[in-house]
Amino acid sequence: MTLVPHKKAKALKPSSRRPAKELCSECGLCDTYYIHYVKEACAFINQQIPNLEEQTHGRSRDLEQSDDLYFGVHQDMMAARKTEPIPGAQWTGIVSTIAIEMLTRGMVEGVVCVQNTEDDRFQPKPIIATTPEEILAAKVNKPTLSPNLSVLELVEQSGMKRLLVIGVGCQIQALRAVEKKLGLEKLYVLGTPCTDNVTRAGLQKFLDTTSRSPETVVYYEFMQDFNVHFKHEDGSTELVPFFGLKTNQLKDVFAPSCLSCFDYVNSLADLVVGYMGAPFGWQWIVVRNDRGQEMLDLVQDKIETQPVTSKGDRHQAVQQSIPAYDKAVTLPMWAAKLMGVVIEKIGPKGLEYARFSIDSHFTRNYLYVKRNHPEKLEQHVPDYAKRIVSQYKLPE
Ligand SMILES: Cc1cc2nc3c(=O)[nH]c(=O)nc-3n(C[C@H](O)[C@H](O)[C@H](O)COP(=O)(O)OP(=O)(O)OC[C@H]3O[C@@H](n4cnc5c(N)ncnc54)[C@H](O)[C@@H]3O)c2cc1C
Repeated sequence: MTLVPHKKAKALKPSSRRPAKELCSECGLCDTYYIHYVKEACAFINQQIPNLEEQTHGRSRDLEQSDDLYFGVHQDMMAARKTEPIPGAQWTGIVSTIAIEMLTRGMVEGVVCVQNTEDDRFQPKPIIATTPEEILAAKVNKPTLSPNLSVLELVEQSGMKRLLVIGVGCQIQALRAVEKKLGLEKLYVLGTPCTDNVTRAGLQKFLDTTSRSPETVVYYEFMQDFNVHFKHEDGSTELVPFFGLKTNQLKDVFAPSCLSCFDYVNSLADLVVGYMGAPFGWQWIVVRNDRGQEMLDLVQDKIETQPVTSKGDRHQAVQQSIPAYDKAVTLPMWAAKLMGVVIEKIGPKGLEYARFSIDSHFTRNYLYVKRNHPEKLEQHVPDYAKRIVSQYKLPE
């Protein structure tokens, strides 16, 4: 049985359905009757990460502790990969595997995840999966804003009491804010980091300007080797160096919500599975609390792990990237490739790469909010992000 959202909320007026206006990340909350809580719950109207960290993990992050400051509240961190990867998963399929184990062992009755529509592999279709097959059909990123929370009112209607939600930071902040209204006995949250998301139209522009064959792309990821990796239908991989991206054409492609986001690492999930703090080819696991550990324990016999490491110094690269992005500098491809090779050899690795990525995005986003929504700057940017940004000299 797959539960997909009904269209009831569509009757509401568009202006009242999206109170965050252009900053809306289409998390789906406003497609449900939980829209009544949107002014408190929306990540872009009411930033409240420290309070929700306290509610979820029992404490908010310690700003004096470097790993906490960057990666959020956690009790363990490691690199991991499945010994038998799931073919067609985004990385090795740790997310799908944990979800399947939780369902088949009866820990949860349903899993909120996102499949794609029949005619478009990148068009998101959120569901509440109740079989392993439905979870598997949701594998791989839909690299577009996805209204995952649009299925939330079905949870209450179906009578489910134990639920797993898979989602990105903005979806999870809204979920945590309404968690107590859902009538659940147990909620587990499996998060992924997320940055630079796009609308479906924005995705097309990105593919058209960046890939040699936009229509055959089945998957892409900005990887730790400073290349975007596109996988094509025929199994081939295309590498495009970060420094060769057509920044002048792509500056407006990212959603305004993502340009205003400071929750890259999904602070409010119980367990986070990404890649950016791990060596190339491995996934990065952040266990935030005991529920997260309980989830990870289910797949210990299916993964190999190694400790996280950190190498290099990101600061200079981040500082140089700030004016380069601002001026939309695009290098000729030969120079971009050369720069990619050099930075791969001497650049930041492991957790330092993750910090590089966080610093680059937070400085860019801080400038975006300051220039476009100055009235929101103080409340919207969390203290941890202000501290991270303060390490750099920013243009006006
Ligand atoms: C839009 C996006 C951007 C990301 N950016 C980064 C990043 O910058 N750094 C980093 O370390 N990691 C990032 N990740 C996470 C990373 O790409 C992998 O998703 C993660 O490592 C899990 O891989 P897997 O093979 O275990 O997942 P799979 O087993 O393939 O499962 C993927 C899961 O993701 C869910 N999903 C797919 N698309 C979306 C969506 N749009 N919104 C919410 N949930 C979705 C599906 O429901 C599915 O359950 C991003 C993920 C997304 C969705």
